[in-house]
Amino acid sequence: MFEDLKGKRVLITGSTAGMGLATAREFAKHGAKIGINSHMTEGSEEAVAELQELGAQGVVFIQANLMKTAECERCVSEFVAEFGGMDVLINNAGGLGGRENLENIDDEFYDRVMDLNGRSVLMMTKYSIPHLRQSAKESGETAAVVGTGSIAAREGGGVGAGIYAASKAWLHDIHRNWVKEFTKDNIRFNIVAPGTIDTAFHDGKSDELKAHIASTIAMGRFGKIEEVAPTFLFFSSHKYSGYITGQILDVNGGQMCP
Ligand code: NAD
Repeated sequence: MFEDLKGKRVLITGSTAGMGLATAREFAKHGAKIGINSHMTEGSEEAVAELQELGAQGVVFIQANLMKTAECERCVSEFVAEFGGMDVLINNAGGLGGRENLENIDDEFYDRVMDLNGRSVLMMTKYSIPHLRQSAKESGETAAVVGTGSIAAREGGGVGAGIYAASKAWLHDIHRNWVKEFTKDNIRFNIVAPGTIDTAFHDGKSDELKAHIASTIAMGRFGKIEEVAPTFLFFSSHKYSGYITGQILDVNGGQMCP
């Protein structure tokens, strides 16, 4: 399956760990050309070596803090300089950015969470659009943008995580707008909305809290990164999802059935 992803030029943000790295591994197994990214170098050398070993046709690591517009522009430029264009953009970088009750939220907190989950996606997509448009024109197939949304976007998030949840709802919604603007260019926009997935995202939680959260999931456990990754490949594949755009696919073990 997903044989059409062979040789595709795929930029995955926030991909030296967690779901981004698991997704990069799947693309590597399918022979894609992959750009991985993080704001830190930690884990990048090991990730590049592993992806090459798994069968990627090419791998480049781009260190860039995507909370900053200029870094987004550079990230896209360096990827395109390496591979000559872009067929798929996966906007996965993001995170909680801290917890704060409404009465304690200040401008610095608001900007941090929105820059991490909103600005990063906005600017990465902005600078990628010309390359995705070109890819679609040359190939006669659709190019794809896939975003990592969240169950929090649908249910409001935990106490103290309201801005995070709202930033992901913002992401869910702006994809619908981009469908209206860029479908004429043969670019598709879809969202993978994970539930509670076992990554560093949950490092700050006690075992007791984790057990409680697991008890609220129909399948009774956190998801694994390998259980989320294939959905990104599905939305990236013209052959398997070429008529799907503007959709949100929830990968959450039945934690919520919207
Ligand atoms: P993770 O912490 O394991 O991975 C996050 C990756 O993003 C890392 O590679 C990190 O270095 C990178 N990153 C963080 N800040 C960055 C920045 N400013 N610029 C560039 N890269 C940056 O976490 P994860 O759980 O795999 O999270 C991936 C995405 O999934 C995030 O958007 C997160 O909000 C979302 N998400 C996670 C869960 C979950 O339960 N784990 C649920 C719903 C949504």
